[in-house]
Amino acid sequence: MSLRLGNYESVIGLEVHAELLTASKIFCGCSAAFGAPPNRHTCPVCLGMPGMLPVLNRRVVEFAVRAGLATHCRIAPVSRWARKNYFYPDLCKGYQISQYELPICEAGWIDVPLEDGTKRVRLTRIHMEEDTGKNIHDAHGSASLVDFNRSGVPLLEIVSEPDMTWPAEAGAYLRTLRSILQYLQICDGNMEEGSFRCDANCSVRPRNTMALGTKIEIKNMNSFRAVERAIAYELERQVRVLEEGGTLVQETRLWDPDREETRAMRSKESAHDYRYFPDPDLPPLVVSASFVEDVRRSLPELPDARRARFVSVLGLPEYDAEVLTARRDVADYFEAVVTAHPNAKAASNWVMGDILRLVREQKLDDAPVIERWPVTAAHLGALIALIDGGTISGKIAKTVFEEMLACGDAPAAIVERTGLVQVSDEGPIVAAIDQVLAANGAKVEEYRGGKDKLFGFFVGQVMKATGGKANPGLVNALLKKKLAGS
Ligand SMILES: [Zn+2]
Repeated sequence: MSLRLGNYESVIGLEVHAELLTASKIFCGCSAAFGAPPNRHTCPVCLGMPGMLPVLNRRVVEFAVRAGLATHCRIAPVSRWARKNYFYPDLCKGYQISQYELPICEAGWIDVPLEDGTKRVRLTRIHMEEDTGKNIHDAHGSASLVDFNRSGVPLLEIVSEPDMTWPAEAGAYLRTLRSILQYLQICDGNMEEGSFRCDANCSVRPRNTMALGTKIEIKNMNSFRAVERAIAYELERQVRVLEEGGTLVQETRLWDPDREETRAMRSKESAHDYRYFPDPDLPPLVVSASFVEDVRRSLPELPDARRARFVSVLGLPEYDAEVLTARRDVADYFEAVVTAHPNAKAASNWVMGDILRLVREQKLDDAPVIERWPVTAAHLGALIALIDGGTISGKIAKTVFEEMLACGDAPAAIVERTGLVQVSDEGPIVAAIDQVLAANGAKVEEYRGGKDKLFGFFVGQVMKATGGKANPGLVNALLKKKLAGS
C-alpha cells in the first residue's frame, strides 16, 4: 500500500478492546457467551437497575494480569474502579464501570515482527472495564432496539503509545497482539463478532518536528484490512486538508467499508467530559505479589519463544516457524503431529499446505479445538511415518489423505484395504518400463537423439502404468538405465 504524505509524517496509536473469554460477566453471574437470543443473558445488575451492587469476577483480574505479564507491563498492587459517565441507550446505568487514573497494568511493550526486522511498540496501559449493550437500528422498521447480552461482558482496553508510523505497522501490531491474547486463551480474537475491536488514533505533522498534530480517532473497523485501509485513507485526508490551508479538529470518524472513506461521527469528548470518578460501589482492587507470581508461573510459552524453539530445536526454517506459531491451535496441532512421528519438516509441509487449506475451506479458522480438525494429529503423523518408511510414496499419500478425510480411518488401515502400497520390487516396474518404451518407439529415438526433456514424460507414463504406486526413485534409476540402452 503506497501512502502519499508529501512533507508530512504520520503518528499512529491504537486502542484495542478485547472481550474476555470468562464464563460469566464481570460484575454478575450472567453468561458471557456470544450468540444467544437478545436479552437472554441479563439480570438486574447488568441491566443497570437502581440499587444493584456489582461483585467483581476474580477471573477477570487473573486474565488482566496474564495479559499484563505477557506484554511486560508493571502490575499495579492497587488499582481503582472508576465510573465513566455518559448517556447512551445501550448503557442504561448512564455510566460504564472502567478504570481510569489507576489502571491494573502500565508501561509494557510488544515486539512486532515486520518485513525488515522487529519494532518495539510501547503500551501505555491495560485496564479492565465492562462492555455495553448493543443498539440495533433499521432491522425493525423505524424502531430502535437494544440487546443487553453484551452489557457487562468483561473487556480489556489495551492502549498503545503513538509509536507506529505506517498502516502496515498498525496491522502487524494488531496481529501480534491478537496472537498473544489467543495464546493466553483469554480472548478469541474474532474481529467480525466484535470480540477484538480496534480504534485508531492518527495524526500528521510536518517532517522533523516534535509536536503531535491534531489527533483524530477512527472507529468501526472490523478486519485487519479495514484497519490498514482506514488509517491510510485518514492520513492522506489529513495531509490534503492541511495542504489546502484548512485546519483539523479533534474528532471521531467512522470507517465506511463500502465507500472506503472515513466520515465525521462526533467531536470527541475530552476525558473531562466523561466526569470520571471512583466507583463508590467497588473497593480499590488489591493484587498481591503472590497472586501475580502464581499467574506468571501459569503462563504458556508465548509465540516469540515458541518460534525460536521451532527453529533451534526442531530445525525448521524461520518462515515455517512463523506461520506455524502465529496461531496457538496450529502450533499445538503441529507439535502433536511431530510427537506422533518426529519428522518436523514433513509435518510442517503437511500442516502449512493441506491442513491449513482444509481449515480455511471448511471455515474452521475460529475453531480453537484441534480435535475438530479434519484429520487428527496422530493420523497425520502415522501417514508421514508410512512415507518415511517407504510403504507409500508421497503421491500415494495424497490419495490416502483424501481417503482419511472421507472415512476418518487410520492411514495404515486405508493402505491395507485399498492395496495402495508402494511397489519397490524391480520386476513389475521393469515390466511397466518395457511396456511404455515399446509403445513409444518414436519418442525413445528422439530421447536417444538428445531430447533429454522427454525423460519426465517417460516417468509420468510409468507412474501411470503402475497406478501411481511405483517407487519414484526406483523408476528414475531403472528408466535411466533402460533408456541408455542397457
Ligand atoms: Zn447480569
